[in-house]
Amino acid sequence: MPLDRHERGLGTLRISVTDRCNLRCVYCMPEDNYVWLDDASILSVDELARIAKAFVAQGVREVRLTGGEPLLRPDLEAIVRRLSQLGVDLALTTNGVLFGPRARALREAGLSRVTISLDTLDPERARKLSKTTRLGDVLASLDAAREAGFTGTKLNTVVMRGRNDDELANIVDLARSKGAEARFIEYMDVGGATRWEMSDVVPMAEIVARVGQAFGGATAASAPRGSAPAQRYRTGDGATFGVIASTTQPFCGTCDRARITADGVLFTCLYAERGVDLRGPLRAGASAEALGERIAQTWRARADRGAEERLNAPERRALVPVTRLRADPHREMHTRGG
Ligand code: SAM
Ligand code: SF4
Ligand code: SF4
Repeated sequence: MPLDRHERGLGTLRISVTDRCNLRCVYCMPEDNYVWLDDASILSVDELARIAKAFVAQGVREVRLTGGEPLLRPDLEAIVRRLSQLGVDLALTTNGVLFGPRARALREAGLSRVTISLDTLDPERARKLSKTTRLGDVLASLDAAREAGFTGTKLNTVVMRGRNDDELANIVDLARSKGAEARFIEYMDVGGATRWEMSDVVPMAEIVARVGQAFGGATAASAPRGSAPAQRYRTGDGATFGVIASTTQPFCGTCDRARITADGVLFTCLYAERGVDLRGPLRAGASAEALGERIAQTWRARADRGAEERLNAPERRALVPVTRLRADPHREMHTRGG
């Protein structure tokens, strides 16, 4: 396994299988228009499988499919089937709108775990936060996940001040009632979050205090979190939840995550300005070894600590202006994969 310049190993690969999305969440895609990746550049099932295999040969043990919205790919089951043969822990992050009817097929194809994003339990808020009227389908997808046999399901909630921060206890309860666990994510100033302001961020300490208030306290789990982004907590009445404090208490020091976009560009940080093209060599017939060497070289050169560096930004505001996002959509969170 290659080590980067801060001695961090490569352990996780996040694959954005599409840059398209059927929602428009305010913290991710708040603009009216987007520049999309070229259809011809999108990796096929076979190409994705070859790239993932090269990563596994470099030490990757966990692969997460994300996007954009992965369920927009009609061949998602085929992707899962191919990647499940690599012997990795294979997970999916989805907004849940289209997941329910395909949960069983994805499970049978070899998907190990699923994370479903849900920011509110209020239909009117869902319309405002994500421009969706399909909250019912998202909730149904939690049941579908359980019925299909998934365990360890997580519920991702981006917490925004004044938008959904009064719903944290209800979301912990909902997750518990569905056999899942809530993950509260601090609103991040990643590319694409063009309306980001520090005043909208609810810091981890406040999230924990609010949940604790509702459930007789909340204490941090003692188990070491390793390279996992979430700090886990247990409430006084036994519920568990996690907080991903990327904005106020980043965890770059243990970050083992590489990302590839749907058109095969490798990024070693959510905040990185540039990536390394893998599609070109792949389509030019590069051997598995040559691809692996390109991945290993990129990882060894990695010095990224994007979220930690943002802590020192003199005036913290949206990371990338809209004009630059249009010039290079690879900087968008929905392209790079969350
Ligand atoms: N569309 C899928 C979904 O929403 O689950 C997968 C892709 S989405 C980019 C992955 C995760 O990134 C979601 O849980 C979403 O809430 C999170 N995310 C997007 N923008 C974010 C931001 N500005 N701050 C924190 N989390 C963000
Ligand atoms: Fe929302 Fe996910 Fe779509 Fe971004 S990619 S707009 S977080 S559903
Ligand atoms: Fe990893 Fe970059 Fe996120 Fe830090 S900011 S945890 S280095 S992806």
